[in-house]
Amino acid sequence: MLDKRSFYINGQWVGPVDGRDFEVTDPSTEAVIGHISLGGKADTDAAVAAAKEAFKFWQMTTKDQRLTLCRRIHDVYMRRSEDMAVAIATEMGAPIDMSRVQQVGAGSFHMDGFFAAAKDWEPVQKLGDHAPNDRVLYDPVGVCALITPWNWPMNQIVLKVFPALIAGNTMVLKPSEIAPLSGHLWAEIMDEAGTPAGVFNLINGDGPGVGTQLSTHPDVHMVSFTGSTRAGIAISKNAAETLKRVSLELGGKGANILFADARPEAAKWSAMRVFNNSGQSCNAPTRLLVERSRYDQTIEEIKIVAENLAVDSAHAEGKHIGPVVSKAQYDKIQGLIETGIKDGARLVAGGLGRPEPHKQGYFVQPTVFADVDNEATISREEIFGPVFCIMPFDSEEEAIEIANDTAYGLTNFIQTEDKNKLKRVAKRLRSGMVENNGIGRGMGSPFGGMKGSGNGREGGIWGIEDFCEIKSVSDWVD
Ligand code: NAD
Repeated sequence: MLDKRSFYINGQWVGPVDGRDFEVTDPSTEAVIGHISLGGKADTDAAVAAAKEAFKFWQMTTKDQRLTLCRRIHDVYMRRSEDMAVAIATEMGAPIDMSRVQQVGAGSFHMDGFFAAAKDWEPVQKLGDHAPNDRVLYDPVGVCALITPWNWPMNQIVLKVFPALIAGNTMVLKPSEIAPLSGHLWAEIMDEAGTPAGVFNLINGDGPGVGTQLSTHPDVHMVSFTGSTRAGIAISKNAAETLKRVSLELGGKGANILFADARPEAAKWSAMRVFNNSGQSCNAPTRLLVERSRYDQTIEEIKIVAENLAVDSAHAEGKHIGPVVSKAQYDKIQGLIETGIKDGARLVAGGLGRPEPHKQGYFVQPTVFADVDNEATISREEIFGPVFCIMPFDSEEEAIEIANDTAYGLTNFIQTEDKNKLKRVAKRLRSGMVENNGIGRGMGSPFGGMKGSGNGREGGIWGIEDFCEIKSVSDWVD
C-alpha cells in the first residue's frame, strides 16, 4: 500500500494536521493501491503562510535566477520521467507507452515552450520614446493557488507552475485527489531541484475542503484553475469576496467540421483524436459535423476505427486505450450512452457495458453515435469518455451555426483543403483555439477558451503574463 499522506510545505514533507484518509484506486484493476490525506483548514493555512513568507524574497529574484531553477526542475523531471509515466498510468489509466510519450512528454513540451518564450520576455519594459524614464513592470501577482484535474496531470501542472515561477510568484498546488501520485512525485522533483523553501507547496484535498479554502483565503491573490465548468463557477463565486484574480481553463465540446474536400485520412484522424486518452481531453473534437456528400463514407471509416481499437490495462505495453479514471466517471459515461440510445441517436459502434474480455476495471467501449441532434443531451454535455457524436450539414453557414451552438468554446477543428474557406470559418468559430487538418498548434501558442470554457490563456508568453500584475512606474533610471 502506498502511503502518500504527507504534504510538501515550506520545503519539508509534513504530516497532515487536519486530514482524513482518501483511497487511491488503480482504474485498470479497481484495486485500492494507497492512501492520501485530504487536508483541512490548518493544513491550507500552513501552506499559504509558507508561500506568503517566501514571496518576500522570491519576488525580488531576477528572471535569470528563476530560469536557472526551472532548468534544474526540467533536468530532474527528465531523469525521473519513467517514474512519472508509471505514476500517471497507475493513477488515471493512461496506457504506459502513451503515458511515457504523451502524458510525460506534454510536461517537457511546455517547459521548452516557456524557456523559448522567456528568452524574449522582459519583466521591465519601456513605455516609449515620448516618456524615456517610464517603465511598465510585469510584477508577480503574489501567492497563487494552482488547482488541477486528473486527465493530463503533468500538462496542467507544468502550464501553471513554470509561468508562476518565471513571473516571480509563490504557490500552493492542489492536484486532483483522484490522481494524486503524479502531483506527489512532482513535489519530490521540485524538492530535488532545490526550490527555495515556501516558493512551491503541495497540499492534497477535495473541492469542498482545500479547494474552497484556497479560493476564499485572504492571503491568496490568484487562483489558476483547470477543471470542470461547474467547479470554475464555484471558484469564481468563492474568490469574488476577496477579489482574487481567477484564471479558468474549463471543459469543452469541440466541433470538428469535415468538409467534402478534406484530405482522405481526415475521418480516421478525427476518430483517433477523440479516442486518445480514452476521450478524457477537454479539447477532444467530440462533435463531428460532416458535409452530407461525405457523410455515409465517414461514418463507415469511423466505425472501422472504433471496432478495431483495443482497450486494455494501462500497465500493458502497446497501442491501446486504457480505462477511464474512476467508477464515478464510468457510471456517468454509461448513463450518457444510455441517454443517447433513448434519445434516438443511431448507435454505430460500441454501446453499454465493458468491452470483451474485461470483467473488471473502468473500461468503456469506443462508442460512435450518428444522426445526432445538436440539441440532444449527448451533444450538449461534455461526456469525457470515448464517445463520438456525428451529424451531417449541408452548407458552410449551417456548419458554423451548429459548431457555435454550444455552451463551450475551447477548441474547434476544420478539415478542408480550401485555405480561403478555412480562414473564413476559423474567424467565425467562437472558441479560443481552432486546429486544422490534423496539424497541432505550435509550442508556446496560447491555450484557452471562451464562454463556458473559461478565460485563461496558458503556455508561452501569454501564460507568463497571466501570472503578472502590470505596474506603471515613472522616473526609472537604468
Ligand atoms: P473537477 O472540476 O471535478 O476537478 C478539478 C480540480 O478542482 C480538482 O483538483 C478538484 O479537487 C478541484 N475542485 C472541485 N470542485 C472544486 C471547488 N468547488 N472549489 C475548488 N476546487 C474544486 O474536474 P475533473 O473531473 O478533475 O477534470 C475534468 C474536467 O477538467 C473536465 O471538465 C475537463 O474538460 C476539464 N479540463 C479542462 C482543461 C482546459 O485546459 N480547458 C484541461 C483539462 C481538463
